[in-house]
Amino acid sequence: MRWYSTRSDHSTTLSDALSEGLAPDGGLYVPDAWPAQDWPPEKPGAPATVGGRLLQPFFAGDRLGDDLGGILSDALNFPLPLASLAPNLDLLELYHGPTAAFKDVGARFLAAALTRLIPVDRDRPLTIVVATSGDTGGAVAAAFHRLPGFRVVVLFPNGQVSPRQAHQLSAWGDNVVSLAVEGTFDDCQRLAKAAFADPELSALHRFSSANSINVGRLLPQMIYYATSSLEIRVREGRPASYVIPTGNLGNALAAIWARRLGLPIDEIVLATNANQTIPDYLSTGQWAPRSSIATVANAMDVGDPSNMERLRHLVPEFELLRDSIAAHPVTDAQIVEEIRRVHGEFGRAICPHTATGTFVYEQLPKAKQGKPWVVVATAHPAKFETVVEPAIGETVPLPPALAEILALPARAIKVSPSLESVSKEL
Ligand SMILES: *Cc1c(COP(=O)(O)O)cnc(C)c1O
Repeated sequence: MRWYSTRSDHSTTLSDALSEGLAPDGGLYVPDAWPAQDWPPEKPGAPATVGGRLLQPFFAGDRLGDDLGGILSDALNFPLPLASLAPNLDLLELYHGPTAAFKDVGARFLAAALTRLIPVDRDRPLTIVVATSGDTGGAVAAAFHRLPGFRVVVLFPNGQVSPRQAHQLSAWGDNVVSLAVEGTFDDCQRLAKAAFADPELSALHRFSSANSINVGRLLPQMIYYATSSLEIRVREGRPASYVIPTGNLGNALAAIWARRLGLPIDEIVLATNANQTIPDYLSTGQWAPRSSIATVANAMDVGDPSNMERLRHLVPEFELLRDSIAAHPVTDAQIVEEIRRVHGEFGRAICPHTATGTFVYEQLPKAKQGKPWVVVATAHPAKFETVVEPAIGETVPLPPALAEILALPARAIKVSPSLESVSKEL
């Protein structure tokens, strides 16, 4: 299978799309076909098994063709379970990985793929530069930590991530450098791009990116939509609908791709925070990206969601695109109140991102709530305890993986938002 740029006829192999990240013309890679498969109406098996079947057509004929099984067993070494919240309502818990957010799935898959693709050169390691609004950087650092032949440089906005996120971004050492940029997430992203584009710096370092536009992050995310929708079809005899907390549209796009591949997925509804570029687009037809606004669901603070380019490429006609998904914004006050409500009603703590999802589910017309729904739980609430604990009036116990990271000393280097000060630390 070939991978095409969203912006031209340029195409390449899966391996090259994985190692390049972005197409040379600035476009995003998309597959040239959607091989439909028949999924028998029976219990789906473990995610690594389902993933092997689901992704096989994308790997067939590629240099990595024989490695898919190994990549999946390296990457998916934690559970991705459904947890019933109420009749017809499940949470899909994607936060049992090493950094307690769904980004672990994509980051670990990409790391497992790149270690098999790129020969180890200890003198000139591959430098993964990752700009993060909070969760991606930690997941990428954890996935590449101590992998021979790789370095990771994390750029995060100083003071604009949760205290535990900041710790998780800075606790690695060894081959991971953490830079606390005195600026916004947009500054971090600009600096990462500027480093790549700088001829002197790229001659000195071998750069690669691991942000959410890499197909190596999207492909494995389809797996948990496959396993959960197949499980629900066995249990309920009907396809599942999803509410997905959305920022850069990476997670939700994987659901849309999974539905395109024939998995039993009915409606896909996006929940955003006050960064409502996508809901506004669906109601006006005007694509108007803007600067991001800081919210309590900070991993979704994206004003210019990159993966929309892939969705518009998949569904070029606006009317069809509008019919294929829905999207609703949720304010900070609504998020905090929703965390309190869910805790009161179900005795469960949820993170602020997940709360946008349960809030949007709660607003659905009652007729729609009569079918099976899944709200995607994107992070563990203990990661956002400064928002969650005051809302529920209780402490949230730390999951063991997170406790381990928080026990390590953290060290980030403060840099001003200029390429000069960043390049000194590379
Ligand atoms: C990244 C992230 C999101 C948003 O996912 P996108 O793929 O950017 O849409 C939501 N919740 C959490 C906890 C995240 O880390």
